[in-house]
Amino acid sequence: MLLTLKDILKLEKTVAAFNVYGYEDAAAVIRAAEALGKPVILMTNKDAVNFIPIEVIGAMLVVMAKAAAVPVCVHLDHSRDEDDIRRAIASGYTSVMFDGSQLDIEENLRITKRVVETAHASGVSVEAEIGSVGYSDPSIQAKAEYTQPDQAVFFAEQTGVDALAVAIGTVHRMKIQAAQLDFDLLGTIRATVSVPLVIHGSSGVKDEDLAKMSEMGVNKINLGTSLRMTFGNTLRKTINENPDEFDRLKFFPASMLAVEEKAKEKITLLSR
Ligand SMILES: [Zn+2]
Repeated sequence: MLLTLKDILKLEKTVAAFNVYGYEDAAAVIRAAEALGKPVILMTNKDAVNFIPIEVIGAMLVVMAKAAAVPVCVHLDHSRDEDDIRRAIASGYTSVMFDGSQLDIEENLRITKRVVETAHASGVSVEAEIGSVGYSDPSIQAKAEYTQPDQAVFFAEQTGVDALAVAIGTVHRMKIQAAQLDFDLLGTIRATVSVPLVIHGSSGVKDEDLAKMSEMGVNKINLGTSLRMTFGNTLRKTINENPDEFDRLKFFPASMLAVEEKAKEKITLLSR
C-alpha cells in the first residue's frame, strides 16, 4: 500500500526510513517490514538518482509499494534541486525532501515554502531540514550545525512542512555506531516543535540510542550506510566464495537476505 509521509507517520510512533539503490535492497526492506507487520519508508538519495533516473526508480518503487502487504512511502531524500523534486512528484513519489540546510535560513525558508506549495498541490508530503547534519565522508563538503529550537519552531510554522529534520549530533555515513547525541536538545525541540521530527545519519547511532530517540518522539529515523555496508560486504563475500560463478542473479540473494535481517533488526529497535 502506497502512502504519503504525512499519513505513514500517523501509523506508528517511529517509522524506519531506509535508503535503497535498486530492486534488490528495496525488495529486501519491504520483506523485512512485511515480516514484522510494520510500515516502512523507501528513500532514494542523490547517489541513487544520479545512477538511475528518478522516473525509472520512482516508477519501480511505486509499483513495489502498491504491491506491499504493509504501508510504504516512497521518498526523495536530500534534494537541493527543485527540478528533481518536480520530476519525483511527476513520477509518483509520495514524499520529497528539500534540503536547504546549506543555505542561510531566509533562503531555506523561501525555497522550502515554494516546494511545499508545489508538492501539496499534488498531494505529496514535504520534509525539510533546519540546522545541518554533517558528513563523516571527507569528500562531501557540508557544514554541520546543531538545530536551534526557536528557529525550528519558526521554520515549521512558516513553511507548513510535514516533517522536519533536525541536527542533534548524528553524522551521515558513519560506519560504526558511535554518534554522541544531545538528548537535552532533542527534548527541547520535541517539546516545542509541533510537526513530526526526522533524524538523519542514524546508522551511526547506538542501538540503545535508536530506541531512546523513538521513545522521545522522533517520528522518522533515516538509515542508509548500515544497509549499504551489509549489502556490499555480503556481495563481496559471495563473489569471493564463488570464483567460477558469473551470473549476478546468483550473487544477489545472500545480500538481499542479509539486508532483510539488518532492516528487521533496526525496525525492531524502533518498535520497542
Ligand atoms: Zn540525510
